[in-house]
Amino acid sequence: MTYNSTKEFAQSLDQADELARFRESFTIPKHVDGTESIYLCGNSLGVQPKKAVEYVADELNDWAQLGVKGHFDKTFPWTRYHEFLTDSMAEVVGAKPHEVVVMNTLTPNLHFMMVSFYKPSGKRRKIVMEADAFPSDTYAVDSQIKWHGGNPAEDIILWQPRPGSSTLMMEDLETIFKNHGDEIALVMIASINYYTGQFFDLKKITELGHSHGAMVGFDCAHGAGNVDLKLHDSGADFAVWCTYKYMNSGPGSIAGCFVHERHADNDQINRFAGWWGHNKEERFLMKPKFDPIYGAEGWQQSNAPILSMAPIRASMELFMEAGFDNLLAKSKQLTNYLEYLIHNIEGDRIKIITPKDPKDRGCQLSLAVKDADKSLFETISDKGVIADWREPDVIRVAPVPLYNSYMDCWNFVQILAAAL
Ligand SMILES: *Cc1c(COP(=O)(O)O)cnc(C)c1O
Repeated sequence: MTYNSTKEFAQSLDQADELARFRESFTIPKHVDGTESIYLCGNSLGVQPKKAVEYVADELNDWAQLGVKGHFDKTFPWTRYHEFLTDSMAEVVGAKPHEVVVMNTLTPNLHFMMVSFYKPSGKRRKIVMEADAFPSDTYAVDSQIKWHGGNPAEDIILWQPRPGSSTLMMEDLETIFKNHGDEIALVMIASINYYTGQFFDLKKITELGHSHGAMVGFDCAHGAGNVDLKLHDSGADFAVWCTYKYMNSGPGSIAGCFVHERHADNDQINRFAGWWGHNKEERFLMKPKFDPIYGAEGWQQSNAPILSMAPIRASMELFMEAGFDNLLAKSKQLTNYLEYLIHNIEGDRIKIITPKDPKDRGCQLSLAVKDADKSLFETISDKGVIADWREPDVIRVAPVPLYNSYMDCWNFVQILAAAL
């Protein structure tokens, strides 16, 4: 499609957008002047689906009215509540339903997956991560290595960008494996790097790791609900993600976890078990011997936090109604359009460090701004833009296809250009 940078063109794109009506299903935070802010921060916290309020209230009411009977006696009984999220979640991350479970929060899930899939032994003890990984992932990996008696300074191998570049190259990961293949126990990287927005080739990485005898897992916090992860086809051993970013399920909401079906009933895999992972038919028989549920559900420990799961239902309903393929198609167009507008800003102060090829990114663009400090970011914030700033010089913006418009992109670029 050929773009132009007029306001009329942005309006015409919104008019032609069949998904535009979904914005109405969300509450967009207001700017101080009472207008809707230009919310481009869905990579950090998605906005609230209006139905979330109702669904949480339903559970509070059921608790008041039914008490303990709410575990069984209602449309969405609490004992099975997570099951009502499985199919839609599996569809969005590209997995089979028994490979997916919604449980815990993200970093604990990452730890629990490493309990199962990081088994250092002999010479094979190293974990490969991407450089500039999200700090929680680095802390988790570092502490797992220590817990196994290893030394993170030796046992973490960083996949680094080449000098002068921000993004990572597959060839360099191949070189790491060529040099250390028999020392690597696990590859644990993000699906999309939180800083650059680079979307990695999960399948290629998995094939590379497996061909050298390593396990492979992904932190899909920035990928889930944003790009086509195809987790099952990637062959990854495990994946984890949160639901408060692109999945709009509220601050600190409950996270997702994927375990590939090849591990579904492998009793040689260690896990930290709990009664919610036990055979459902027998869960309430209170037997002492753990008999895990087939698939990812067998990794659950506790009964589910219903009040945090209710908004996920509201959000996933919208994903299903809009159709994830339609969202992906709009996402590409919306992001390409935003990129076009940014390239049209006069001067050379902005460099987009996110990959140019749409297949190597989701909807996030990371803008490195020459000679900028946080005051630039504060100026655009004062004008009603909600984005985020990463020291030293990067603004991240993410036009989210479920609720952002072409006019959001246009307005943002007007404000940014004026501030520059
Ligand atoms: C957002 C994010 C986190 C946050 O972890 P929580 O456990 O949800 O607080 C961790 N890792 C990555 C890669 C993230 O993007």
